[in-house]
Amino acid sequence: MNNTNIYQLAVTGVQKLIPYKAGKPIEELERELGLTQIIKLASNENPLGPGKQAIAAIQKALPELALYPDGSGFHLKQALATKYALDASQITLGNGSNELLELVARAFLIPELEVVFSQHAFAVYPLVTQAVGATAVVVPAKEYGHDLAGMAQAVTAKTRLVFIANPNNPTGTLLAQAELEQFIGALPDTVICVLDEAYFEFVSQSAAINSIDWLKKFPNLIITRTFSKAYGLAGLRVGYSLSCPEIADILNRVRQPFNNNSLALAAAEAALADEEHLHNTISNNRLGMQQLTDGFKALGLPWIPSAGNFVSVDVKREGMPVYEALLRKGVIVRPVANYEMPGFLRISIGTPAENTLFLQALSEVLD
Ligand SMILES: *Cc1c(COP(=O)(O)O)cnc(C)c1O
Repeated sequence: MNNTNIYQLAVTGVQKLIPYKAGKPIEELERELGLTQIIKLASNENPLGPGKQAIAAIQKALPELALYPDGSGFHLKQALATKYALDASQITLGNGSNELLELVARAFLIPELEVVFSQHAFAVYPLVTQAVGATAVVVPAKEYGHDLAGMAQAVTAKTRLVFIANPNNPTGTLLAQAELEQFIGALPDTVICVLDEAYFEFVSQSAAINSIDWLKKFPNLIITRTFSKAYGLAGLRVGYSLSCPEIADILNRVRQPFNNNSLALAAAEAALADEEHLHNTISNNRLGMQQLTDGFKALGLPWIPSAGNFVSVDVKREGMPVYEALLRKGVIVRPVANYEMPGFLRISIGTPAENTLFLQALSEVLD
């Protein structure tokens, strides 16, 4: 065994895989710098926290913790089916929508096949593609957004999957309804399209896309959404996909039997019914986006207009040292050099007080 490099025993895709780098946890920065007043605007979490109804549902579910959760997620699926006027057989629950991205890759990819996605798109797409040994075909972005014409051209006989993030993270760019509908409709029947709508709830009504209606005519469409962002439950890990029943059946075959824990199921169902908390979250986001972009304007910094709960700002120099200087002031944001955007930082919208602290720290750091 002494002569064996253990890494060489791992499958090829995994050997070369660079793990996902998450936003720095508050506690870690506290330990490292001994700071006490820390704000985290790094992972697009809900600055208002979870809603009261979700917390009450968790408390109510606590005495049942010795029992396995409902592996079918019956009640949550029923609530989602009602909300979206779909059949429960079209819904797949995941341990965060990240798990669904992985389940899709495991269910549909083999090493000979290709996956098309955009430059600057969500970092999990290359990870799940590489882990199963398939080939990522990365299409250059157009003004930081997805170039759908370029993506359509990149589809070959080997393509099995296309990932689209709308709005995209970390750029916040949003595609228009007609363009996207036309793109999906023109895909060959043998290509599955994953439309990742993790930030759907933040898109203004006027710009929102009725992607759920498309499920009727596009059997190769999978929409993914999450309770991690607008619903404030990132710590519980609940996401879901909407698709034709056949795709849901396929995903169900590869998922673990109890992939959502019982507290998460209870909280997500309660959160879905809590329209007031969602409304407050969206209002806070709209005001905070204005506050941050006004601040950027005052500092003379360009930003990418964002439809999400975050915004990427061009700091007009290397982003990493700015990120590190902000850390020393107790402000955690997200460097995006790993997204080929080394001059940008991604800032999640916070509360008005957090946004003020961040802008103050940023102006000091750039001084
Ligand atoms: C945050 C995010 C997700 C999913 O997060 P989960 O917590 O796993 O639901 C998916 N896609 C994008 C683009 C995201 O930014």
